[in-house]
Amino acid sequence: MRAFTYTALPTRVVFGAGALDKLGEEIERLGARRALVLSTREQRSAGEDVARRLGSRAVGVYDKAVMHTPIESAEDARRLAAELKADCCVAIGGGSTTGLGKAIALTSSLPIVAIPTTFAGSEMTPIQGITADGIKKTVRDMRLLPKTVIYDPTLLLTLPARIAGPSGMNAIAHSVEALYAQEANPVTSLMAEESIRALGRSLPQVVRAPDDLEARGEALYGAWLAGICLGTVGMALHHKLCHTLGGSFNLPHAETHTIVLPHATRYNRDAAPEAMQRIARALGSSDAATGLYDLARSIGAPLALKDIGMSADGLDRAAEIATMNPYWNPRPIERSGIRALLQDAWEGRRPA
Ligand code: NAD
Repeated sequence: MRAFTYTALPTRVVFGAGALDKLGEEIERLGARRALVLSTREQRSAGEDVARRLGSRAVGVYDKAVMHTPIESAEDARRLAAELKADCCVAIGGGSTTGLGKAIALTSSLPIVAIPTTFAGSEMTPIQGITADGIKKTVRDMRLLPKTVIYDPTLLLTLPARIAGPSGMNAIAHSVEALYAQEANPVTSLMAEESIRALGRSLPQVVRAPDDLEARGEALYGAWLAGICLGTVGMALHHKLCHTLGGSFNLPHAETHTIVLPHATRYNRDAAPEAMQRIARALGSSDAATGLYDLARSIGAPLALKDIGMSADGLDRAAEIATMNPYWNPRPIERSGIRALLQDAWEGRRPA
């Protein structure tokens, strides 16, 4: 029997089609009176809808959330929250918007109500990546954990297939690494396997039929479980590589995860046989790494770093940064192995 430690994270979750209607009640429960609503520019109208629902309890909509939370953007949002005397942040959007809420919470302790509209999973974690001077650094602090998360699958009906597919693969990446994490335990492993099963089953339908609410609901359920895994146990090589590629090369987050995941899984194959078995079983495949690659291909997601803006001459530097302060990983991090992994991901090869 394997000994383990498990700490549950205290976020209240309200899940269901139409769950956004409970926003007023949830804000009331927190005792908030001056909510600052956060969104991206593209989702400004979703932010305005939230503000309308909150009426006099909203003090403004800030629509400048961007990917990888650059420090300048974090500071701008913090300044506005202080100026408006906000007592809560309501973040409607994907991981970028939740991340902006976390940037505010880190220095002000304001409670966050997160309304996720992608499968990124940031809403279930006390973690944030902030990018300064070209390097993305991760902070872990309980003030970052949203107090309440409202999961309403109807909000994902507008998520285009080209964003939805990679976003779902990003969620699967959390679960894959949770299965071989140093702190892996029976509870997160159950959630991780179930989340890969739910996402693996639903994603093809999510991209094929954008108006299939059931499929989007099932994928969101999988993403929720994956987010819990991400927040509960430490991540390994795959997440380190993606942070490097995102923070230092400004590659798009979910697409980078999609491309790197089969190769990072292949790298760890022999060091984590039980995890590999569970991933393969959840995907109904004979092999974890190829199962992930084939899923990504079947949903039309990008498969090669060269297709998402990575230049070949950046690969050496990426290998260097990623191996500088490596996260714990089941297989020791060897620079030559990581360089070869990056080459395969750059070319988009199916893992052997
Ligand atoms: P995103 O939040 O940047 O969203 C991508 C684009 O999709 C944006 O333009 C957004 O406005 C749009 N969009 C989102 N939902 C939509 C919807 N339902 N309909 C139409 N358009 C929609 O992308 P993401 O992949 O969700 O998040 C990436 C960011 O989140 C990265 O910065 C990453 O580091 C961070 N992240 C953090 C954690 C964590 O635990 N800290 C976890 C996962 C991701």
